[in-house]
Amino acid sequence: MPTIFSRIVKGEIPSYKIAEDDKFYAFLDINPLAEGHTLVIPKVEVDYLFDLDNETLTGLTLFSKRVAKAIEKAIPCKRIGVAVLGLEVPHAHIHLVPLNKESDVDFFKPKLKLSPERFKEITDKISREFV
Ligand code: AMP
Repeated sequence: MPTIFSRIVKGEIPSYKIAEDDKFYAFLDINPLAEGHTLVIPKVEVDYLFDLDNETLTGLTLFSKRVAKAIEKAIPCKRIGVAVLGLEVPHAHIHLVPLNKESDVDFFKPKLKLSPERFKEITDKISREFV
């Protein structure tokens, strides 16, 4: 059974896509901690980040850097927080979360509820800054 994230990559499940290349895919987290909370994944289906081969892990890190730079330009924040949990979806992913204070990256706090229109606006703002 493909993971939900593989189905997103294939376009079987919709996502708010921020950026993509042949190996990596970035999209907004549907239950965001902050506006601009983005997930970055390898297209290859591997559960645990540190089981990725070195080339993929390096590539994912460098792709995440480009996504983080785009988020920084689009969303006012002090910096981009980076988190790896992976307890819910068994497909390696990096959370990029715009931060203004430590509690912005508290995964226990209630998630933001955004309208589809707002998700779309955020997607457009970030993706146009991606280089
Ligand atoms: P974790 O595996 O613990 O890092 O959590 C998985 C993350 O994926 C959570 O923050 C979810 O909100 C997010 N997520 C799950 N399904 C989707 C989806 N279809 N689109 C966007 N984000 C998702």
